[in-house]
Amino acid sequence: MSIVRCPDCGEPIKLPEGTRSGDLVDCPNCAGQALRVREDDGQWSATLAYRVSCPACDEVITLPEDVKAEDTVRCCGQTYRLTFEYGAFAAEET
Ligand SMILES: [Zn+2]
Ligand SMILES: [Zn+2]
Repeated sequence: MSIVRCPDCGEPIKLPEGTRSGDLVDCPNCAGQALRVREDDGQWSATLAYRVSCPACDEVITLPEDVKAEDTVRCCGQTYRLTFEYGAFAAEET
């Protein structure tokens, strides 16, 4: 059984059978927070995976690991520019 700690709240989270390095899991304590898990030599660790809501349809988009401000995401046939403020990303119309 593999367990990671949520980097946000510290809750230990059991990884489901078949979890692979790079998968996303949800923290039961942190609503809407996704954790990206990684395995190195049998040791699992978790980092926060940032998410943004589409300004048009409210769909939640999970951002790639190497995302940075000024990157763009696509939804609803639109391209949105990402901004990073107060520790969170937001999507803005370009
Ligand atoms: Zn948490
Ligand atoms: Zn959308």
